[in-house]
Amino acid sequence: MTACVWREIRFLSILLMVLLIISSITGYTLAILFTGLVGYTLWNLYHINRLSRWLNNPSKKAPESKGVWDDVYYQLYQLYKRQRKARRRLKNILQRFQESTHVLPYAVIVLDSRYNIEWFNPAAKTMFKLNVKSDIGHRIDNLIRLPEFSGYLLNKKFDHQFEFKLAKKAIALSVTPYGQGQLLISARDITQQFLLDNMRRDFVSNASHELRTPVTVIMGYIELLLDKENVKKNHPLEKIQQQSKRLENIISELLVLAKLEAAQVIDSPAQLNTKKLLTEVFDDAIALDNGRHKLSTDIDSVKLNGRYAEIRMAISNLLTNAIRYTDDGGHIKLFAKTDPWGVTIGVKDDGIGIDYTHVSRLTERFYRVDEGRSKEQGGTGLGLAIVKQILDRHGAQLRIQSTPGHGSVFSCYFALGK
Ligand code: ADP
Repeated sequence: MTACVWREIRFLSILLMVLLIISSITGYTLAILFTGLVGYTLWNLYHINRLSRWLNNPSKKAPESKGVWDDVYYQLYQLYKRQRKARRRLKNILQRFQESTHVLPYAVIVLDSRYNIEWFNPAAKTMFKLNVKSDIGHRIDNLIRLPEFSGYLLNKKFDHQFEFKLAKKAIALSVTPYGQGQLLISARDITQQFLLDNMRRDFVSNASHELRTPVTVIMGYIELLLDKENVKKNHPLEKIQQQSKRLENIISELLVLAKLEAAQVIDSPAQLNTKKLLTEVFDDAIALDNGRHKLSTDIDSVKLNGRYAEIRMAISNLLTNAIRYTDDGGHIKLFAKTDPWGVTIGVKDDGIGIDYTHVSRLTERFYRVDEGRSKEQGGTGLGLAIVKQILDRHGAQLRIQSTPGHGSVFSCYFALGK
């Protein structure tokens, strides 16, 4: 019990004693006790009424009283002061938040768990032509009417952003779930970046196309000039032929990359005949390898959806790399396995391996660990960039484990449902 309750008990005991003394002197025990009790009850009712009035409309000045009520008023007043302070702080935070979201270049929209709009900032208002009066409380997919957007919301795969075109603008939108099922949408205008990307892609594609014909002509003439009888004369011509062949490979891989970048991602690709695909890739590798390595397979039956030609190219690039970067006599294994979470198709070798410092950069265009070896083996520096591009299009990941001097495992991981 608190000190004020003890004080009140003491007060009541004294009051009772006084009443008893008066009643023993006057002889009206019951009447005096009754009057005392009524007085005490009325006093408490008066304070309850006062308190309830103050609680209905708390003012800066709390009522004053005596005894236990003074304590109650004091405690409530402190609580009220603390709440007022917290409310003021919250109001400031809210105001600062609103000020910052007003100047934010990103569109920000808050949705409830049923995708109804709760709040949006001015950038969202401009970008999606939203209206505070009519659109708050409405489902966002009724306002941004795009089947792909509805699909994106329904799929709830918010780990990647959604890019789409709206009124000639390219928009990148990402969704972050928070609280109890609420969603925070942030969207930005990527039209400039989109146009620049398109220009870059077109440039690479056009330049590669333009280069293709002269290189083919050069190679044709070298073929004609090569004199089977004159080895000395042939040496420089063979060098030119080698370099032209490299150039031809680079051009065709640049074209492959440009095509992959420009192609639309298919939402529900067909199921692949993985057995046929892996057998074909493996047979090609055996032909390319020409008996230099010990090639083997460890292939479970796996179910995979995707584009046949693209997946075939990705696995083929990994196998070609294993052949390139494994010394003669080494082991190379093509494997495919399923676990409860997804499908992994990969290539394991016991070749030269890669230091971990290079691993994160291997999928960059023209990045090579050992440029000399890559060129000598006919590498273009684009193989893994193509693999990455293909896997991105399939929502899959390239995983690389490698130890210098011991070998590498390059695997394509397709999570279930992709
Ligand atoms: P490249 O045409 O040069 O092989 P890639 O993009 O296919 O280009 O590979 C990039 C670099 O990654 C290679 O130059 C090589 O240094 C390294 N690399 C790729 N695969 C392997 C592997 N299996 N073992 C060791 N290094 C590898």
